[in-house]
Amino acid sequence: MDLKAAAAALKGLHAPAFRLDQVRRAVYGQTVSSYEEISVLPLDLRQELAGAAPILSFIPREIKIAPDGRARKAALVLRDGKAVETVLLKPSPQRWTACLSTQVGCAFGCVFCATGLMGLERDLTGEEISDQVLFWRQHMRREGLQDRLDNVVYMGMGEPLANYEAVAESLRSLLDPRQHGIGARHISVSTVGIPDGIARFAEDFPQVNLAVSLHAAQDDLRSRLVPANRAFPLAKLARAMEEYVGRGNRKVFLEYALLSGVNDRAGDAQDLIAFVRGLGRTELFHINLILYNPTQTPFEATAEPEARRFQKCLLDAGLKVTVRQSLGAEVRGACGQLIADRSPDVRQP
Ligand code: SAH
Ligand code: SF4
Repeated sequence: MDLKAAAAALKGLHAPAFRLDQVRRAVYGQTVSSYEEISVLPLDLRQELAGAAPILSFIPREIKIAPDGRARKAALVLRDGKAVETVLLKPSPQRWTACLSTQVGCAFGCVFCATGLMGLERDLTGEEISDQVLFWRQHMRREGLQDRLDNVVYMGMGEPLANYEAVAESLRSLLDPRQHGIGARHISVSTVGIPDGIARFAEDFPQVNLAVSLHAAQDDLRSRLVPANRAFPLAKLARAMEEYVGRGNRKVFLEYALLSGVNDRAGDAQDLIAFVRGLGRTELFHINLILYNPTQTPFEATAEPEARRFQKCLLDAGLKVTVRQSLGAEVRGACGQLIADRSPDVRQP
């Protein structure tokens, strides 16, 4: 929703100023899906606004829902015909999390990630990013689910800190009490680890959670898995994270997707322990072990018992570690599985 476009359209029609507040309350407060539903607005204003300032900046084309309803994925067709996917997850009873995409594709090419295989097509706009939240809130209302979204994670397609301005604009819309009004502690941004971006993010959004995709704690291996490591090696990334936690005692989540035989060996756990201990404020780092979700990349997931063994090694060393429950695989909507799906299988939501 482009509120500025709505304001300009209303001004052009010489509508009184309170009309914009009515629109904002209906769109963000009542999560209406169309201007038709805003019955307090005169008919001509509704029609005019639908053309000049559409509530969503994309057309949802297809929603896939997992059999248990706990994972939902939508394909969104953007104004230029490109497509992205966005995900809604229910990690625990009565908790809903939206997972947002920030780019069409991604330039960073992590070798285990389906989005990375696409390359970068373009950045999303701030509106296209925050509209994913609006879209999922509308969906929840239509489906009679609870009306509140509990968490938002920037963990869909793309690298948020490589599209900083648009991500910042979307965060302001999420945080604004007159728009989505979501608490900063309920929002997480995940990055491949761009040091300058982390510094800027710390300055602008000190209360929003930061997750860093580590996946290996040794430069050779990390450069193979996460090619961005060649430009931003572990020492630089470590310095950026130390500055981040030093600023406001904020935690950092370290994401580590376990790939069988690649980064899940005893030596890898030792490297990880040494790396996190080397970070100084070790207590502020929380490791999230993720089970690899199948993509068309040549890796295999670490089996659950081995993942638990890996976790125990880290726990015994005094680190904070959880194994993240992976949701969304039934709809190919789990971490790393999102692509610009242009399949012609059309079903209007
Ligand atoms: N570009 C950002 C955010 C999007 S990816 C980033 O890389 O952090 C969200 C998370 O999913 C990242 O931690 C990413 O490394 C991880 N991921 C990518 N492919 C995966 C896969 N096949 N299985 C499990 N996790 C994966
Ligand atoms: Fe891009 Fe993140 Fe996928 Fe790496 S894991 S290719 S940074 S979306």
